[in-house]
Amino acid sequence: MGLLKVGTPLSWKDSLEHLNYIREHGVLQFIATYNRLVAVENDTLLYGDEIEYGILKLDRVNRKARISLQGSESLEFLRSREQNIHQVRGCSWHQEYGSWMIESTPSQPYAGYTASLVSVEQNMRLRRGRLISALGDDEIAPTMVAFPQMGVDDFVHPPVMSGGPASESEFISDSCINPHPRFGTLTGNIRRRRGSKVDIRVPLFKDVKTPEFENLQEGGDEPSIHMDCMAFGMGCCCLQVTFQGSNLDESRYLYDQLAGLAPIMMALTAATPILKGRLAGIDARWTVISQSVDDRTPAERGEAVGVPDPRMAGGGVTRLCKSRYDSISSYIHPSSFDQDSPSSIQYNDVPCEIDEKTKDLLLQNGIDAALSHHMGHLFTRDPLVSFEGNIQELDDEQSTDHFESIQSTNWQTVRWKPPPVQSGDSPHIGWRTEFRSMEVQMTDFENAAFTAFIVIVTRAILVFNLTLLMPISKVDENMRRAHCVDAVNKQKFWFRNHILPDDADEMIASTCPQAPPRKSGLFEEMTMDEIMNGKSCYYPGLVPLCYTYLEHIGCDCASFSRIDQYLKLISRRASGELLTPATWMRNFVQAHPDYKQDSVVSDSVAFDLVEACNEIGLGTRPCREVLGNMVIDPICKAGQYSTPLSGDRMGNEDLRKVLKNIM
Ligand code: ADP
Ligand code: MG
Ligand code: MG
Ligand code: MG
Ligand code: MG
Ligand code: MG
Repeated sequence: MGLLKVGTPLSWKDSLEHLNYIREHGVLQFIATYNRLVAVENDTLLYGDEIEYGILKLDRVNRKARISLQGSESLEFLRSREQNIHQVRGCSWHQEYGSWMIESTPSQPYAGYTASLVSVEQNMRLRRGRLISALGDDEIAPTMVAFPQMGVDDFVHPPVMSGGPASESEFISDSCINPHPRFGTLTGNIRRRRGSKVDIRVPLFKDVKTPEFENLQEGGDEPSIHMDCMAFGMGCCCLQVTFQGSNLDESRYLYDQLAGLAPIMMALTAATPILKGRLAGIDARWTVISQSVDDRTPAERGEAVGVPDPRMAGGGVTRLCKSRYDSISSYIHPSSFDQDSPSSIQYNDVPCEIDEKTKDLLLQNGIDAALSHHMGHLFTRDPLVSFEGNIQELDDEQSTDHFESIQSTNWQTVRWKPPPVQSGDSPHIGWRTEFRSMEVQMTDFENAAFTAFIVIVTRAILVFNLTLLMPISKVDENMRRAHCVDAVNKQKFWFRNHILPDDADEMIASTCPQAPPRKSGLFEEMTMDEIMNGKSCYYPGLVPLCYTYLEHIGCDCASFSRIDQYLKLISRRASGELLTPATWMRNFVQAHPDYKQDSVVSDSVAFDLVEACNEIGLGTRPCREVLGNMVIDPICKAGQYSTPLSGDRMGNEDLRKVLKNIM
């Protein structure tokens, strides 16, 4: 998480009178950033991942030689590359929502060379190794989306009473919330703004002896898993990737392109089959988080008529169709924004509420319609945490805190990140796009594979002038399907079948009798296998496009051999040859001797599962169903921090002790 102010948060009641000020000045701060950096060009590709972990305690790769007289040029080239890509790499550690959670990123973003795609995994492994070296002997930190027993009985060490003033949860103690005041305040204020505890419902998995289904009345409510606080959602761990665009325009283009991929990649990485001790009727986390931070009032949710409170965004009564943690509601590149677009297709075809005052202010300041619209949408939300002494005191030219207060609590499947305020001699940070939908995988091989895939796909989109754009209503429908049990094999997803520029597309279509005519629609329902591996002779598939891109740039063979393994993982998972983590975990539970076919994941089953996931992540246990032939090199617990090569002279007594074993 970006912003972590230290200070005293205001109570919700006290912050109410500041909400409009913060929102207004958030807009002004964005305008200042925009004006300062709108003309930035030729930023290089930089990217980096984020991985979240939960810490658990266990009660356990030719024939003539000549000399080439160009050593000086080589030297200069080698030195410049050295500076760009071979710098020392480390880890950064970040706070996360849960007090049992931690987030890691590389200490510096990766530069745009093929070799970086391989360093991603090395760095993830370094992070995992460093993390476990910080744990106690009976502690583990597997990369699982949700702790299976979250909210079940005494699932916390040390023991705690459930509830507390922030969450008022029946199942989870406030002591599970990161102690930084931001997190508890966020939790409490979501509940207070909403007017009630969050109410999270996900379908319960129906097994042969699931009691809830036994006496089910026809037309009765769908048996569900009920959760009641933010930790159930924000306690979920994910894999995120952020890219720097070469300029403002590119970052916006990639935002729109990646929005359509978000549901697809969530389905392909699905890893959340268990919630609150029960097998769920879904495989992915998103809806849980979405419901867990839904701060909309009943009137905003469309469930009641409310009395307007002018201190709140939209008076607190204006209908808002989505939670602030949800899929996007409008595209932001001019070419996909209908008013500016030459195309007759309505891409922005879902309700997108706008704070008109924000939008007007941006338009008056020369910001284009698509971006003003996007910001107008973000600013339909209220700030959730305000800090004493950090409101009127801020200079809108020097601070982006108010902007970030809204931006960082609009948790959408993709996030467009304007540059932060530059402090001192810190490096320039450009316009970035973050891809947020993927579920964290058990191994760094998989986490690196999905990170590398997304990076390569963005390059292929740019270089080959592809467009994956679809109407948002179809993206939303895909998001719904992506949650379903084994969505990879059981669902079809809306996808664009004409992704090449018009001329190239027409050429291909003319040689492919199966190609649907453009007039009959650019979108069709495809299987995950088709989306990733190609369909007929008209849609090439994302994985083959990645290979074509790598060939086009002349990828070095050392990098290619690893990247090839990444792409094969993705291709095989999409075809169903390899399992998603969700399916693997569900099978694990259902095959466990203690499982009673009642959708209950008991303590003993959960214990074996978290241990298995941990061992798979550490490379000490094979998992052919998910990894195929890939063998994960074991990660060692000790020695992850390099040791200084000491040159300090020893005294004779110590020398005798040290040498006694070999003398
Ligand atoms: P947040 O939690 O706000 O999404 P983090 O700081 O946790 O942000 O992670 C951001 C990711 O972006 C990290 O992997 C980091 O290496 C990467 N990153 C940092 N600077 C840049 C940049 N200029 N361009 C692209 N990515 C960057
Ligand atoms: Mg995080
Ligand atoms: Mg982060
Ligand atoms: Mg974050
Ligand atoms: Mg998180
Ligand atoms: Mg992030």
